[in-house]
Order: sequence, then structure tokens, then C-alpha cells
Amino acid sequence: MIFQCKNCGGNVVYSPEKKMMYCPYCESTGSEQRRDSQGDIHICPNCGGELPVEEHTSATRCPYCDNYIIFNERVEGEYAPDLVIPFQYSLEMVKKLMREKFKGSIFAPTDFLSEVRLNTMEGDYVPFWLYDYNVNCQYRGEGRKVRVWVNGDTEYTETSIYDIVRDMDVSFEKIPADASIRMPDEIMDLMEPYSYDQLQPFRAEFLSGFLGEKYNMPAEQTEGRAKGKMEGDANQLLRRTITGYGSVVNQSQNIRINGRKTSYGLLPVWVYTYQYKGQDYPFYINGQTAKIVGKVPVSKAKVWAYGATLWAALTAILACVYGILAL
Ligand SMILES: [Zn+2]
Ligand SMILES: [Zn+2]
Repeated sequence: MIFQCKNCGGNVVYSPEKKMMYCPYCESTGSEQRRDSQGDIHICPNCGGELPVEEHTSATRCPYCDNYIIFNERVEGEYAPDLVIPFQYSLEMVKKLMREKFKGSIFAPTDFLSEVRLNTMEGDYVPFWLYDYNVNCQYRGEGRKVRVWVNGDTEYTETSIYDIVRDMDVSFEKIPADASIRMPDEIMDLMEPYSYDQLQPFRAEFLSGFLGEKYNMPAEQTEGRAKGKMEGDANQLLRRTITGYGSVVNQSQNIRINGRKTSYGLLPVWVYTYQYKGQDYPFYINGQTAKIVGKVPVSKAKVWAYGATLWAALTAILACVYGILAL
């Protein structure tokens, strides 16, 4: 499908600045008209040019007429996303941001921030599975507190031993794991956190103006990563409730999943692939929060993440947290 302007016939795109559909040709808003295309998806329905379409491409830009084309069969039916976070940063906004971030940067080659290079950035809707979990965490351990005091010539030591018992129900909401073979998992993890208050029911309009991919890994295949994040967080939550002891010996811990739900979402990522001396230096910018993750040309060893990487979108309900004084 293509979204065409009722007034001028131009390609209407979603504008992150205006937060609505916008025709960059005649500058009208809300003038879009959906035109469904039939036939070979490799042929641009607007100009007949050959489209760059890979196996999983769900939205692309025609290199000849610059129209954004969305493939119905890859955003509908079994591939219909439940949710989407629309791009909050436009190309212009991201260019400005990159310049602010890296101006005066000693590592950056001169054309790293050039208009021509930065204009090659593409906004990409990356497919994600979002996992909800209800879990029960049980913990048992032994804590010790030691008190030492002196009375006359005698030193006294008192050791109190505590049974530490924790039993908590925790619900996790929408732990993301990307469902794209093409996107590096560790980079997508660094794109977190997304703010879920901007999650919306999917509409194809949001894709107009961007590239997209349908999920190309089944939810079962990526679940291990979500589960790992969940278990790590559950562990941290448990540990956070155990304080005030001089020493703690862990005895048992059990995390049981009582309920789960999976939804399919598209999350926005800007991709800037900078080539320098024959090598690619990809930069990824979270299209919602503008967090930048990239590899800088002179520092080959390290992937740089700018900003916090804390996993934020989790809600914890501490149902029953208690410690029993045993001795
Ligand atoms: Zn128009
Ligand atoms: Zn075209």
C-alpha cells in the first residue's frame, strides 16, 4: 500500500514532529488516502521502478520516486503487529542530535557528520516479541548479625542467626527481544529501555516514511533472552529485600512462571552505517528515546553506549516479604 495525498498526489508520511500524517510536497496534514497495490511486490506501484525488497522487508522506499511502500501481506494476518511505538525522532532531529553529540569529538573523521553521510540514515521498525510474565520467587537463606562489646576485662560477642524467607509474586510487562535475524541482539538489548506509555495499537500509517521488517524469528526462539532478563531482574529484586545482615548464606531459590503472554510489536530504530577505510561502523539510535549505541571509528575494541542501560519497564508486586527471627 501507499499513502497518497488527496490534494497533490504526493506520498504522505508519518511525521514524528507533528505526530500525524503529513504531505511533504504540499505541506497538508491528514490528507492521506490509502492505495492498495496488487501484483509483484518488487515493482513500485507508483513509478514501476524495481524495489529493494528482501525476504522479510515489510516497508521500503522506492529509490526512483522516493515513495514509501508498505507490503500488505507482511503487516496483516499472521504478520499483523499488535503494538507499535511510533518514531518520536525524525531524520532532521536525529541529525541534529548526532552533531551535538559528536561535534568536537577527536575520533570522528571529518565527514562523519556531513550532510551527505547523515542523510543515508534510515528509520527502521524492528520486529520485537514482548513477553509478559507472572512469576513466583521463593528464597531461603541464613543471615547473621554479630555484635561485639566490652564490659570491664571481658569482650562479649553475640551472634544472632536469622532464617531469611522470601516469597514474592512479580509481574513483568513486555520484556522485549528482537525478532530480526539481521539486527545484532546485543545492540538491540542496549537500545533499551523503551518507554511503554507511547505504545499504540498498530496502524500501517505509522510505517509510511520508514523501513520495516516482519518478524523472522519465532517467539519460542527468542524467548530465552527475555527469560534471562526476567530471571536477572527477579534475582535483583529478591536480593534488594535482603539487607542488614553481616553475612548471608543462600540456601535455596526458585523462580516459577505462573503465567505468560506474548505480543508482537514494532519498535523504532534509526540506523546510520558509516563507512570508513573500507569498514562499516554502524550506529543505532533509539527512535523513541534517542539513545545512541555505536562503534566509533578509532576505537575498534569497544561498542559505546551513550546513556543508561537499565531495564526499567518492570512492575514488581511484593506480595509477601518477611524475615523470621529464629534465634
Ligand atoms: Zn500533498
Ligand atoms: Zn517508485
